[in-house]
Amino acid sequence: MYLFRLVYYSRNTVATTNKSAFKEIKSILDAAARNNTRDGITGALLFNNIFFAQVLEGDRKAVTETFCRIAQDPRHSDMVIMSALPVNERMFDQWSMAFAGRSDTADRLYTRFGLSPEFNPAKMTSDSLVGFVQEMAKCEEHVAHAGEKAKATAA
Ligand code: FAD
Repeated sequence: MYLFRLVYYSRNTVATTNKSAFKEIKSILDAAARNNTRDGITGALLFNNIFFAQVLEGDRKAVTETFCRIAQDPRHSDMVIMSALPVNERMFDQWSMAFAGRSDTADRLYTRFGLSPEFNPAKMTSDSLVGFVQEMAKCEEHVAHAGEKAKATAA
């Protein structure tokens, strides 16, 4: 397999503030989780009300096919490819997603990555975006694990 990493950002055309928009975002996340697991693709999708940013890693053909499908999706526009390169190893060991909203943790990361006050991938290099997405995905995992632990404790 030829391992490949593609990084892009785009403009979110789904306003994330109302209920039907939430459904749209959920359907993107569901399709991504379903298909990427099937296709051996790891990485993460980050979004806020304005942008999507995504890292896709996996077999070169699988990443290309996924990207071509995503590129036709009307739920975003103005895609910018930041990098598309063969790599020796994955930086993400699973598929995940995160909302780049405001929280104490997110605000600390925005400051660390020079993004304060808000996530704006148009102002980032590819390397910095991948680092940021990794940190955000880790935060989401901690939140998810904390939720699982809380459920297990309550059961
Ligand atoms: P769908 O329309 O989702 O479904 C096709 C078939 O699968 C149908 O026959 C349907 O019945 C069946 N199906 C639907 N739901 C289920 C289910 N729960 N279980 C089993 N079968 C089901 N797509 C990705 O694949 N990966 C990504 O990383 C990704 N990232 C995206 C990022 C952005 C910013 C956006 C806007 C979209 C992204 N998408 C991603 C979505 C992508 O654009 C396509 O909408 C999606 O890939 C289409 O998936 P699909 O072919 O499974 O079609």
